[in-house]
Parts: sequence; C-alpha cells; structure tokens
Amino acid sequence: MNEKNVAEDCQDFDRWKEFEKHLPEGGVATAFPTQEACRERLASVRWPGGTTCLKCQTQDVGYHTARSIYFCRSCNYQFTALTGTLLQSSKLHPQLWFETAEEYIKWRAKHMGHDFGVQALAEYMGVAYPTAWRIRKTLKQDLGMDGGGLLARCICPDLHVNQLFSE
Ligand SMILES: [Zn+2]
Repeated sequence: MNEKNVAEDCQDFDRWKEFEKHLPEGGVATAFPTQEACRERLASVRWPGGTTCLKCQTQDVGYHTARSIYFCRSCNYQFTALTGTLLQSSKLHPQLWFETAEEYIKWRAKHMGHDFGVQALAEYMGVAYPTAWRIRKTLKQDLGMDGGGLLARCICPDLHVNQLFSE
C-alpha cells in the first residue's frame, strides 16, 4: 500500500466517524419516527425554500397525502421526495433508508471504515443478498458524495458538510 492509499483510507475513516458523531441523539428511529416524518425531512433537505417541481421548477406544488406524492399544479408532473435521487429506483421506504444508513454509518465508524458485509446487511434488513448488494452500493454512492449525500444530510442534522468534505 502506498502513502496515497493510506491517506485516503484515513480520510474515509474520518468521514464515518464524523457522520456518526452527528447522528441524532436517541437514534434515527426516535428523531424520525414515521414515514411521514422521514418524507418531510427529505423534502426540507432537498427543497429548503419549499417544494419545487422537478420538471418546470415552479413552487405551485400540492401534496396528495393518501398516495404520498407531490403534484405540480402548473405542469401536472407527479413526483415523490425520492424522485430524481439515487434512492428513487429502490422500493424501500424513506424510513428504511434512514435506518439502514444509520446502521451502515455506525458499522463503518466502529470497524475502522471497513465495509459492512453484504450478507450481514441482508440479515439486518431481512432482504435477499442481491437486494442488499444493490442497497449497499447506493448507500456508498450517496454517503460518499462531497457534502455527505442526501441521506447524511437528512439523518445527521448538524453536520457541517461544506466545511468538512468539499474540496
Ligand atoms: Zn411542474
């Protein structure tokens, strides 16, 4: 292993420790106890100035509570809090994403940055191995982003991402 790799590994470990430090007291399940709370959290992180149509950018957007979808009154486009994110192709609910991301962060912070095994993740979530593999890939992509990704910004409320991670 050359020096560059060592440095990158350490930096990676710092990232997980930093995420862990900012997880909500009492855990994600307490901070965001319902699907609705998770959806609201996602929306406020994605659209801090108010929900914005992903197609036409207007803010004339309504919310269909029973179906958990937003609809644009201007262009009729329908979307959810996950549309257009890395998480959208999955059938997982926001709450399960939040809880799994928390578990994933804790694991990596505890194990010197080593990755969560796919089999262990499959068992934790009660899903099949290929599903767990895809979920882990998405988690890594999202949490590995500059600025922490959508999930870290949702579940680590006081994370000062710009200070820490942007180059
Ligand atoms: Zn629109």
